[in-house]
Amino acid sequence: MSEPETWAQVRAEVRQWLADHWQPDLPLSQWRGLLADSGWACPTWPQRWCGRGLSGELSRVVADELKRAVVPGAPEGVGMALVAPVLLEYGSDALKERYIRPTVTGEITWCQLFSEPGAGSDLAGLQSRASLEADGWRVSGQKVWSTGAATADFGLLLARTDWDVPKHQGITAFVLPMRQPGVQVRPLRQMNGHSSFNEVFFDAAAIPADHVIGAPGGGWAVARTTLAHERRLAAFPPTPATSSGRAWREAIAEKTAAAEPHKWYPQRAGRSDLVISQARALRLAGDPVVRQEIAKLIELSWSARWMSERAAAARAAGQRPGPEGSLGKLASSKIAKQAARVHSLIAGSNGLLGGQDSLLAGIVTEIAVSVPAISIAGGTDEIQRSIIAERILGLPREPDISVGVPFRDVRTG
Ligand SMILES: Cc1cc2nc3c(=O)[nH]c(=O)nc-3n(C[C@H](O)[C@H](O)[C@H](O)COP(=O)(O)OP(=O)(O)OC[C@H]3O[C@@H](n4cnc5c(N)ncnc54)[C@H](O)[C@@H]3O)c2cc1C
Repeated sequence: MSEPETWAQVRAEVRQWLADHWQPDLPLSQWRGLLADSGWACPTWPQRWCGRGLSGELSRVVADELKRAVVPGAPEGVGMALVAPVLLEYGSDALKERYIRPTVTGEITWCQLFSEPGAGSDLAGLQSRASLEADGWRVSGQKVWSTGAATADFGLLLARTDWDVPKHQGITAFVLPMRQPGVQVRPLRQMNGHSSFNEVFFDAAAIPADHVIGAPGGGWAVARTTLAHERRLAAFPPTPATSSGRAWREAIAEKTAAAEPHKWYPQRAGRSDLVISQARALRLAGDPVVRQEIAKLIELSWSARWMSERAAAARAAGQRPGPEGSLGKLASSKIAKQAARVHSLIAGSNGLLGGQDSLLAGIVTEIAVSVPAISIAGGTDEIQRSIIAERILGLPREPDISVGVPFRDVRTG
């Protein structure tokens, strides 16, 4: 924006805009189109790309006003949280033109195609290969653990395009159209009974020549930015109780479908919120060992909350997400493990029973078999510790035999 704006000005402008435009019976895509074109959907983004170039602080004023007016916002998930920020930072104007607005309106959905069977923690060792042919890029190989790939329209893909340079330099990031004969998606089933992830196979899958994000060979920077955003990917917010009208009906249906792969995620986080009521219900709130373990859990949760508030303040002051995201990621994993431990302590052998007539209709058991995922998804605990050691504490880097060696000469697997 050309002039500095005050909170009151922004608040008044959003209120007026909502009074002029919000109609509960609009189709969701039409409402989101208005929101995108006004810039209120993502106010920190540039004006040309569905934003207003506002500071993080002012954007919170906008969010407060949208919440107060009980209107649906942009869709939740990978598209808005990971892909759009990455396209804004690295994408060509043509890619932004083609993909930013439909992502904000929810007309297209995305998945992240990074991990491979032999490249998870060592993501830079990935071996899906893409080559530039006369009719565009062709990609062959396999991805795994791809959340939501079965329903996504497009994938944010990392593939190797140069085998003669060191591993980090030969990777390229692409926008891959998922709905084509060269892409096959097979769902996986987890130990908690859900099926949130997929294997994705590429057999000469086609990517238009201009669908490279950044420069060929520049994919590692794109990957690092994506992972920094991923470490602070938020859970789906609850739908307001007072929502009504067509736009909300469609938004709720969309959120229910998008949240399907994530519906066990509250259990994955350990359900600290249920610990005290469970201890009381099972008459163990006075047990000294249970009390001590609950106190440890609360101590961890509170310090993690203060740390995340500090990170939010840094972002509001305009800082990019950095290695501090690893502290939050590691903290959430410790909290989840401690919460699962306390739930098991309280439940005793009853915690082994699943099903509707077991403790909390199976939730306690689901916590036990879901919590391990939080120490793996988005980078394992060990990898977060390495990042903290190297990039926050300044300790020596982990030895890497692949440094300076062309990828085709590096032993992999
Ligand atoms: C719930 C969930 C959701 C996911 N969603 C997605 C998704 O949507 N898209 C996607 O692309 N991927 C996704 N993943 C994949 C995830 O990013 C990988 O599983 C993760 O990076 C670990 O890789 P890996 O499974 O290959 O384990 P490996 O890398 O093989 O690691 C095995 C073990 O070795 C340890 N280890 C490995 N290297 C080191 C090292 N250098 N130092 C110390 N210890 C080490 C690890 O910590 C781990 O304990 C998801 C995973 C989970 C569990």
